[in-house]
Amino acid sequence: MAVPAANFRMQVIAINEGLKKIERKDTILLQDNRNKIMSVVLPAYNEEAMLLKTAETLKKILQKEKIEYELVFVDDGSKDSTWKRIEEAAGADCQVRGVHFSRNFGKEAAIFAGLASASGDCVAVMDCDLQHPPAALVEMYRLWEEGYEVVEGVKKSRGKESALHRASAGMFYKLMSKATSIDMSRASDFKLLDRRAVEVLLEMPERNAFFRAMSSWIGFQSTTVEFDVQEREAGESKWSTKSLIQYAITNIVGYSAAPMQVVTGAGVVVFLLGIVLGIQTLIRYFSGHAVEGFTTVILLLLLLGSIIMISLGIIGYYISRIYEEVKGRPRYIISKRI
Ligand code: UDP
Ligand code: MG
Repeated sequence: MAVPAANFRMQVIAINEGLKKIERKDTILLQDNRNKIMSVVLPAYNEEAMLLKTAETLKKILQKEKIEYELVFVDDGSKDSTWKRIEEAAGADCQVRGVHFSRNFGKEAAIFAGLASASGDCVAVMDCDLQHPPAALVEMYRLWEEGYEVVEGVKKSRGKESALHRASAGMFYKLMSKATSIDMSRASDFKLLDRRAVEVLLEMPERNAFFRAMSSWIGFQSTTVEFDVQEREAGESKWSTKSLIQYAITNIVGYSAAPMQVVTGAGVVVFLLGIVLGIQTLIRYFSGHAVEGFTTVILLLLLLGSIIMISLGIIGYYISRIYEEVKGRPRYIISKRI
């Protein structure tokens, strides 16, 4: 009696295996036949003037190019009627989605929230003010179709800026390029990433993310698309000099321990100076004309005091950043979705 039962079991297993094979083939066919969707993530902070125009322009261009799309607007806690505009855009087009933050968390947080909400096979990130030309977006999509997994927009020209802004941006990017060993001088947040690259970025746990550098750091097969920064048609730039300096410091510290090595460097310099001065003082003492007066002491105290304070400040800043990371608070808080 045992033999037929075993036979029967073997047959059942064979049938199951066959069914699984058919099922696998079907899913592969389904995946291949399905049209690829591009998600476009648009961080928006006080962009009521530009929002509908941006949605409309993107829709027109992508439809013309027969690219299936999804627009993900992330309202970074705007104080104007940006969210209302997003609701209007979503009402007019089912391809538009919106995420609303409980307060302003910054552009980086908005980008990451957009990446997490996007469902496309590839995800592009662009500014909500049309300063990143939509034509370049189409070019990026075509490159992605050719098999590139990370397509980075690089600035051919920086658009209109003051000389001071240009000079400080230049210095910031020089430091950042050193810190990350990636050429950042023309980098922008205008990028298109394959789903795989997006998953990798979303798995990176750091609170203080710097999208521009992280998307290059992850590697993958990448290429670049050059674009000219357009002029802002309406609304205004959200960056004040203070916020740009803050942004530069945050990102340099987030990416590099070089400032701490500066502390060591300063220590070495002071030590060498100490040896020279020490020898000179001793020689003068033994030759009968000892250094006099408080002037030398005061100068030395001031010099040492300031170097020690600056060094403590640098180390303290790193400790505060470790503290921020250890707290493990969320990068952003979403209060509404549409
Ligand atoms: N942005 C944001 N949160 C902020 C500041 C800016 O989401 O706290 C968005 C803004 O709405 C825009 C993009 O980031 O879509 C770039 O900002 P902006 O145009 O002000 O910068 P600029 O082009 O002057 O560098
Ligand atoms: Mg802009």
